[in-house]
Amino acid sequence: MIFTDLRVPASGPRTSVRLAAIGMSPARTEIADKVPFTGPSGRIFNDALMATKVSRSQVFVTNVVGFFVDDNDLYSIPEEIMASERLRMFRELDEVNPNCLLIMGADTLDLLTARSITTRYNKKTGQPYLATEGSKEGIIKWRGSIFELILPNGRKQKCVAAMHPASFIRGQWKWLPLYKYIDVPRAVTQSSFPEMKLTSREAITGPSFGMTMDFLEEAGNQEWVSIDYEGMSNITCLGIGWTPGTAICIPLSRVGNPSYWSLEQELLIWKSWCALLQNSKVKKIAQNASYEWIKSWLHGIYPTPLGADTMHMHHCLYPDWGGITDEWTKRKRDIDNPGHGLALITSQYTDQPFYKDEGRHWRPEAGEIAFWRYNALDVMVTYESAFKMMDELRMLGLWEVYEQGYLQGFETLLRMEWYGTGIDIALRASARIELLEEMETYRQQLEDDWHIKVITKVEKKGQKPQVGVLNLASPAQLKTFFANKGYKIPTTRATKDKPARPKLDKDDLNALAIKHNEECYECVRFRILSMTLSIRNLTRAIESIHTIDREVPTERASPLERAS
Ligand SMILES: [Zn+2]
Repeated sequence: MIFTDLRVPASGPRTSVRLAAIGMSPARTEIADKVPFTGPSGRIFNDALMATKVSRSQVFVTNVVGFFVDDNDLYSIPEEIMASERLRMFRELDEVNPNCLLIMGADTLDLLTARSITTRYNKKTGQPYLATEGSKEGIIKWRGSIFELILPNGRKQKCVAAMHPASFIRGQWKWLPLYKYIDVPRAVTQSSFPEMKLTSREAITGPSFGMTMDFLEEAGNQEWVSIDYEGMSNITCLGIGWTPGTAICIPLSRVGNPSYWSLEQELLIWKSWCALLQNSKVKKIAQNASYEWIKSWLHGIYPTPLGADTMHMHHCLYPDWGGITDEWTKRKRDIDNPGHGLALITSQYTDQPFYKDEGRHWRPEAGEIAFWRYNALDVMVTYESAFKMMDELRMLGLWEVYEQGYLQGFETLLRMEWYGTGIDIALRASARIELLEEMETYRQQLEDDWHIKVITKVEKKGQKPQVGVLNLASPAQLKTFFANKGYKIPTTRATKDKPARPKLDKDDLNALAIKHNEECYECVRFRILSMTLSIRNLTRAIESIHTIDREVPTERASPLERAS
């Protein structure tokens, strides 16, 4: 619901303003105080400003929507009300004319940068909702980016995007350092001048043969080069550069024409490329170098040495930030973890605005130049980030850890992944017996303590639980069982349509085991063992590490489709 009479006016100075900040809409604390960003989100915001030695009183602060929206659903606001809020916001920005505007939150970014807003209707419920057009979508992509927003009167407003502090409170706390140490300081730095001053990056696209050969020859004289392949089953272009400001994309194919070069030319380019990659005096930099290495191997090229892999260095620096974003598989992005993808690394170490939607997935309608430019940009930002990360590793005393733990084993481990590793089948069989015995002790223990038969069995849908039997594989049965024992069962978060419900997934059970006592621990341990032992899981675990089992040949999952 919206409460248009519960308004909070903008705060801060209105003249000679350097930095302005904009959020979604005021929350309860702000309504009571009549000042934006005074609640928990405001404390995080003020804190981040203080870290850059800027006082909150110097900053003009406003919201996209100036009134209270109890469910934070800005898209439920009627179109004419949103249109007038947008007008008010644009007027404020024109009046204050800040050097830089910090945009906080996905909805804020979307509603502020939208070319237009329209009313649409939900197909199922018929409820109206706001739809935006031509906006910058996705705060996780855009955070950290410096860009210009063209206001309705034509004035260009420099902006920096950041996540909304409320998202850190809601659980995305791993992103907080990026807000505090990257995005807010970036907005503060940018607020000392009004114009756009970004690192200039020259992407050499569609080069001539002579130019390509010259570039490759010069690359051979460098100590470090950054390389990047684009393409899924075939390499569609070779990217290379050795400065943050210039890189070449050597295309191999093009729209409507399988080859960019004549056969003789392509042969010479490959020869030169091979000589460069195998030149042991030239250290290579790449993001997820495994991809470039394996693709090269398939072409009979054996690159050496790897000087630095930005993905690995980032992992070494921020090991708890989760897996890398994998846009190529169906795996869903884990929004709680920043990961180690190049888009994140770029936003962290360079001033290059987000460009990853521009050409990553080959779309002929976007044109080949966009795709080639994208490749060259990858090379430049990887190069720039690599040196900053090397410094950071040295500063933290982690360079040796990176060198010994990541670099030295790189090719051996990659070969192991590629060819597989032998496994001792007899040892595996005896380990299985050991686990079964261990499981049996836990089962006995649990049955003695609880006076109930304990099993782990995946139930068929709709199957009735047996009386006097506790199935540890059934979250529903465990939920009832532990609730009856007086344990506090966690609940799902209540939403508009669904009230909070008790839940007990494997993470909840682990938490319960840590918090409570032996009983839960035994139960968790038992479940883990039984899962490990279930043939399906065991086979899957083995397949995922490409083992060679001479008795049971397992299919080798190809790493080829993984991209850099
Ligand atoms: Zn790339």
